[in-house]
Amino acid sequence: MIELVDIEKRFGDNVVLKDVTLRMREGSVTALVGPSGGGKSTLLRCINLLEIPTAGTVRIGEDSLRFHPGQKVGWASIQKLRRQTGMVFQNFQLFPHRTAIENVMEGLVTVLRWPAGKARERAQALLDKVGLAEKADAWPATLSGGQQQRVAIARALAPSPRVLLCDEPTSALDPELSEEVVDVLGQLAKEGTTMVMATHDLRLASRVAHEVVFLEAGKVVEKGEPAKIFGSPERERTKRFIATLT
Ligand code: ADP
Ligand code: MG
Repeated sequence: MIELVDIEKRFGDNVVLKDVTLRMREGSVTALVGPSGGGKSTLLRCINLLEIPTAGTVRIGEDSLRFHPGQKVGWASIQKLRRQTGMVFQNFQLFPHRTAIENVMEGLVTVLRWPAGKARERAQALLDKVGLAEKADAWPATLSGGQQQRVAIARALAPSPRVLLCDEPTSALDPELSEEVVDVLGQLAKEGTTMVMATHDLRLASRVAHEVVFLEAGKVVEKGEPAKIFGSPERERTKRFIATLT
């Protein structure tokens, strides 16, 4: 249901993604792994079109856009595709002057024009889901990193995106706090949430992902089930990289 076909992204002469073709089934979780600078974040940003691919096709559900070098794509169609996605960032990026529940309501009220009462109800349900029912009125600064990230996950899920994109969701957290985020993402996976995540966190990838994609220098080197990629990768390059993770 998510399809990336021959995605290329250049920044000037720098080819950051090269002929990336990936298909993700509805309800599946894909982990992007690989060395820094390999293109993981750029690939996520090409799915939600925060970066416009230089070439290739992005399809999410029924919506699909094809990009050609030097050819502009309409803002409305970019917006339409982007709204099928929700994004979670490494450093949470909550609005500091809004409470937890207001952070979750924000997009529903300002973008989707939901009435505040209905938005609050949905936001409260999502905070319950991520285990933060009691923290609805807390300010982000008073929450732990793990709690902030769980609010960010609730916020990303609020408009019911078809895919949740996570860029290093546990990288800013110490092991204990990342555990609670892994638990929440694992629960979402169990419920059939389609997710694509960039991560260095072996525990996250092996517990939550159905497929692991090893990306280096903008190319897919190898992909497969977590047990295969982490346990017995075929490529020497993948082997060496996996050995650096713990
Ligand atoms: P990763 O997330 O795997 O660490 P990134 O997608 O962040 O990799 O980066 C891939 C490459 O793209 C890097 O060489 C980076 O310098 C380059 N890059 C990323 N964003 C930009 C940008 N906005 N302008 C120019 N180069 C960029
Ligand atoms: Mg990155």
